[in-house]
Amino acid sequence: MTCMIKILSRKTRLLGGTVTSCRSFHAEIVRPDSRGLPIVHHRKYVCDLPPNHRFPMGKFPRVLQSLLQDQVITETQVWVPEIASKDLLGCVHTEEYLNNFISGKINEQEQRRTGFPWSEGIVRRCRYETGGTVLAAEVALQRGLACSTAGGTHHAFPSFGSGFCLLNDLAVAAKLLMDNSSPKRKVLVVDLDVHQGDGTAFIFKEEPCVFTFSVHCGKNFPLRKQQSDLDVSLEDGLEDKQYLSTVEAHLPSLLETFRPDLVLYDAGVDPHHEDELGRLRLTDQGLYQRDLYVLKTVVSRGVPVAAVIGGGYLRDIDKLAVRHSIVHRAATQVWKECGM
Ligand SMILES: [Zn+2]
Repeated sequence: MTCMIKILSRKTRLLGGTVTSCRSFHAEIVRPDSRGLPIVHHRKYVCDLPPNHRFPMGKFPRVLQSLLQDQVITETQVWVPEIASKDLLGCVHTEEYLNNFISGKINEQEQRRTGFPWSEGIVRRCRYETGGTVLAAEVALQRGLACSTAGGTHHAFPSFGSGFCLLNDLAVAAKLLMDNSSPKRKVLVVDLDVHQGDGTAFIFKEEPCVFTFSVHCGKNFPLRKQQSDLDVSLEDGLEDKQYLSTVEAHLPSLLETFRPDLVLYDAGVDPHHEDELGRLRLTDQGLYQRDLYVLKTVVSRGVPVAAVIGGGYLRDIDKLAVRHSIVHRAATQVWKECGM
């Protein structure tokens, strides 16, 4: 295994800073009746696509179904996000892009780049998904840990969408929660989707309060990588053990040096050996161990963490949905073990 590591010391030198509470996007986020792990979900995370479209859109409601059916969670744990307003999205995306995206003025070439034909439904689903990631981050600050059942659209740039990503939910959440505290909160984005988080890296390349950490397959999409604060580029075919030791080699030191006030975790399941777009060879057990390790390592240091599901591509939607629910299952174990 070879790892290509680029680290910018600029951000790791930033220490200190205390957290103060401030304005939230979601005005009503206290749910005293819910004591379990917060799960953020909206039924509008999903929309119609043309028949045989490659993107497994049907997975979103089934992630929640799988957690409820297996009694991992109950309905009382489900938090419902608001739709992300244009103002909120404007903290990351350009006004021109948002106007065109919302009103459908996206030409064919731009649509091809995103992988989706434009529709009102897809605009709505992306805006709810972004609202969901923001809510998960806000609730994580209150409760220590929260997970959405969507999110992780890390290929979206300020002025264009790309690779099935139209709005960068991670960037919007990071920006909002960084800015609505004085001094600014420091946010660490841990992106373990098999593809590089190029949009997020680009958005925060000059922002010292957000550290982007991406572990991805080097030969995979996007062809042209951006520079994250820490990129770990993996060779094709990597298996559980080497993958886990790579994550273990970096995460603790990042937490010690950058000292984030919040972690956003993209738990993409596309490093799995069955994934249609991944090139690694992880198993379901390996993904569970990975998620457990990340969440425990962050939570045990008293740092709040919000997780999103990231990418996963498989024709068998039910199997894929259960795979995406691994992060919620691992989070449930951490929630119980840590007495949260
Ligand atoms: Zn991916």
